[in-house]
Amino acid sequence: YEASPRTTVRITVNAPDQMLELGRRLAKLLRAGDLVMLNGELGAGKTTLTRGLGEGLGVRGAVTSPTFVIARVHPSLGEGPPLVHVDAYRLGGGLDEMEDLDLDVSLPDSVIVVEWGEGKVEELTDDRLNVVIHRAVGDTTDEVRHVTVTGLGERWAAVELGVLSA
Ligand code: ADP
Ligand code: MG
Repeated sequence: YEASPRTTVRITVNAPDQMLELGRRLAKLLRAGDLVMLNGELGAGKTTLTRGLGEGLGVRGAVTSPTFVIARVHPSLGEGPPLVHVDAYRLGGGLDEMEDLDLDVSLPDSVIVVEWGEGKVEELTDDRLNVVIHRAVGDTTDEVRHVTVTGLGERWAAVELGVLSA
């Protein structure tokens, strides 16, 4: 028995622009076929992080919180993979609606980022980045966020996530 490879980094983010910068940095580690799961309460900064990621990937359109759609595809402005941004908040617990998105079809050629993906997208691949964003406990005005990034599976086994906190 071998424990699955796992790398973790914890980053303290002090303001929204730092969250954008973290997203831009994270983008440099990503390539087609990568899945990123974002977890954290409403207003934690998941969409803000994804916006920075979209900037870093160089995709078309600003990443926003989708109002009428669950998934939005941002094509690359260059040679890179498109960003598929999913907000699974309104999706039921069942896998049916998720299956309708055909993320398995898009994944090989895309970077897929899923907000609220816990319990919904794990079956797509064993390789993924889990990002958890925490607000300082009991403080809803503070801009400090604690971000934990964990790489799961062979894909991330040898990737140095420390560059994210540099
Ligand atoms: P989520 O997608 O997790 O619901 P959003 O990114 O849509 O969160 O919203 C986060 C809100 O919190 C924004 O209004 C943003 O300006 C604010 N905010 C304050 N501090 C931070 C921070 N350090 N990182 C990200 N967002 C922050
Ligand atoms: Mg959001």
